[in-house]
Amino acid sequence: NYRCRSAFKLLEMDDKLRILRPGFSVLDCGAAPGAWSQVAVERVNALGTDPTVPTGFVLGIDLQRISPLDGAVFLSEADVTDPGTLRTIHSLLPAKKVDVILSDMAPNATGIKELDHQKLINLCLCLLNLSQSVLKPKGTLLCKFWDGQESRLLQGRLKEQFQDVRTIKPQASRKDSAESYYLARQYKGK
Ligand code: SAM
Repeated sequence: NYRCRSAFKLLEMDDKLRILRPGFSVLDCGAAPGAWSQVAVERVNALGTDPTVPTGFVLGIDLQRISPLDGAVFLSEADVTDPGTLRTIHSLLPAKKVDVILSDMAPNATGIKELDHQKLINLCLCLLNLSQSVLKPKGTLLCKFWDGQESRLLQGRLKEQFQDVRTIKPQASRKDSAESYYLARQYKGK
């Protein structure tokens, strides 16, 4: 039982594109209520349920409170864009860096399409900063965005820093016409 229907978007993307593997370490940004983290815990084998494959790790972070979940570590009431959060993230990670950064973050929508778009693009740009200190070389970043004028700019930035960048529109988010995801793989960072 997933905490939220959004789980099906990640399941769909992961089934198709193999983003999460057993043993991977994952940072889930905008994790509340925790459905993506549930999927991540299963797919990286964070509970060690399958003893024949490596055991992974999941750290979820959100502005909101996230109810505890077996196999995940949660950092609640924390802002990903706050530079102070970085230190806390590092203190909670088993190793210095993660294999995958997931972001299903969304700002509180104002209803003004252009403004909401901007705000979400800014959140995604912050993730590029975060990647520098938290993402392993060759790592993956999956981030939600609402399409608009600045999408190209974000895509360009991603292409500078990742070898493979593609746009995904999961079936499961079809009804939300503006919502898409960038999947950026093969991080070039040192
Ligand atoms: N993927 C989640 C799941 O499956 O349960 C749903 C995520 S929900 C669509 C978006 C979340 O992003 C909200 O809970 C919101 O609080 C969070 N968020 C927005 N801005 C944030 C920020 N600056 N730092 C951390 N979380 C943020």
